Amino acid sequence: MIEIPQGPNAPQHELPPARESAPGARRTPLAYAARFRRLGVKLSTVAAMALVGGLTLTTAVPANAVAAVQPDHVSVYASTEVGVVQELQSVVVADDVTVPTTETAEGYAVVSGTQIRKEKAAAAAAAAKAAAAKAAAAEAARPKLVWPTKTTAISDGFGYRSMGFHDGVDFVPGNGTPVMALADGVVTAATEDGGTWGVMITIRHVIEGKTVYSLYGHMQHGSMKVAVGQQVKAGAQIGVVGSTGWSTGPHMHLEMYGEDGVRWDGLAWLHARLG
Ligand SMILES: [Zn+2]
Repeated sequence: MIEIPQGPNAPQHELPPARESAPGARRTPLAYAARFRRLGVKLSTVAAMALVGGLTLTTAVPANAVAAVQPDHVSVYASTEVGVVQELQSVVVADDVTVPTTETAEGYAVVSGTQIRKEKAAAAAAAAKAAAAKAAAAEAARPKLVWPTKTTAISDGFGYRSMGFHDGVDFVPGNGTPVMALADGVVTAATEDGGTWGVMITIRHVIEGKTVYSLYGHMQHGSMKVAVGQQVKAGAQIGVVGSTGWSTGPHMHLEMYGEDGVRWDGLAWLHARLG
């Protein structure tokens, strides 16, 4: 510590520079003290300015801005990813960057790549769920039982008649009109030469918890649209009305039966369920 002399002889302000002293003049303690004091003022001023400047620099640069400009921490999305980023008005940063705030001074949201991927996955899952729900609704609304022809008019019913027992129902919707599977099922027979049935198809269904078969006869040659083993839906066209086999005119002969092969009145059965 250098003691600065006080008292009436102590210099108050200006002292002549040492170099202006006479050559060989000996510097007095007072001269050293004055130089030290002036130097001290200069140093403290510089230190204060540096301190203020440092504080200004610190407060002007947010932590995320520093991270964003470091090349190692910036993710560059190519092609379509750029479009997504622009659309979202977002700045994409690497996952390991700590983002202290959701917005920068420019108003851009800071969103990580992981966040974007999560949102895309969530959107895809929601879309898939909606599509599944729509499909389920359509499936629920789909008719599971339909008439096999476009009209319910018949030329001959089930039961005894002059030529013997008629074990089917003869629908007469018109020659060449579509014949439809009356319910969901699996094709168990499909032949161009079904004997008295002519062009004939049989389908196995499960209806009301029971195995039910439907048989469609007398369709036109070459009109079959299904093959054995094929899954069909109710209402799917399987052929067209014709007059093949033992037939005197265009009609569709329908038989219905269970596992035991015993036929029942398909017209009454369908009316009971379809009105
Ligand atoms: Zn018949």
